[in-house]
Amino acid sequence: MNAAESPAQLPDSRIANIQQHLLAWFKDHGRDLPWRRTRNPYHILVSEIMLQQTQVERVKPKYAAFLEQFPSLEALAAASPGAVIRAWSGLGYNRRALNLQRTAQAVLNEHDGKFPATPEALCELPGIGPYTAGAIACFAFERDVAFMDTNIRRVLQRVFAGPDTAPVPDRELLELGAVALPPGDGWTWNQAIMELGALICTAARPRCQLCPLRSDCRAYAEWRAADEAVFTYSPAPKAPRKAKVAERAVPFTTTPRYFRGRVVEALRQLEPGVWLAVAELGPQIKGDWTPDDQPWLATLLHGLAADHLIELDEARLHARLP
Ligand code: SF4
Repeated sequence: MNAAESPAQLPDSRIANIQQHLLAWFKDHGRDLPWRRTRNPYHILVSEIMLQQTQVERVKPKYAAFLEQFPSLEALAAASPGAVIRAWSGLGYNRRALNLQRTAQAVLNEHDGKFPATPEALCELPGIGPYTAGAIACFAFERDVAFMDTNIRRVLQRVFAGPDTAPVPDRELLELGAVALPPGDGWTWNQAIMELGALICTAARPRCQLCPLRSDCRAYAEWRAADEAVFTYSPAPKAPRKAKVAERAVPFTTTPRYFRGRVVEALRQLEPGVWLAVAELGPQIKGDWTPDDQPWLATLLHGLAADHLIELDEARLHARLP
């Protein structure tokens, strides 16, 4: 395991260099993304939930369409769950849509429609974890909050600890992130470090030669020392690659998650309120469907109903969106 630098012993000059280099880079290279133009906490919440498992370019049009359909917290809270699931089409992980609506309802009912501004209070809302709470506190209320997503974690790890083949615990990285955060500039800092992780310090192939933190980065120093002759050294860490190979062993199109998505997608095609016979659903979602698949489908549908993503009429054997 790498030993990370001690937060208490980071020299001021090192912190100042990192801050200056990263913020200057972001000023020139940060993308103009719609959720960076607003401080509306509801809009920030929508963007953060969408971005959790979906790429930026796919989120952009969905974010605009979702806010057009549900322009306010009140509009989202009052919508039928089926309408919210329909609006989530193309984003995947449909449970996020229902969690988002539950968060909106809680803000409306328990906080008079006003988002709490601190990470601690935001964490009390349903569907909000430490990352989303920190992101809303920072990006909507401009609080100087250190938090972590995968991009931030990777950059902090590499800059302050070294190559990510030997990861340090999140708690230590979070402490380092808090020390590195420039007071009064938390919004820009967090946007910048996430952007660096997304565009330059990527998981598989960091583009160190373009990185503003090259001279400040422990991982880069280590990689370079190991292969001084190759000046454009840009190593791909091995651990994530192995994980990907393992994931590929089970094709996604055979997983329960894939078929759950197929069921929701089939029901999305119906007019609101219309039921679909389970006997018709099976062949629609599974190309090689046989009657022997019925118990498998029943388990799938019960799981979706338990998650409130569909309604199941067990007497008539019909399903629809809620
Ligand atoms: S120098 Fe390389 S490893 Fe270090 S932060 Fe930049 S891109 Fe990441």
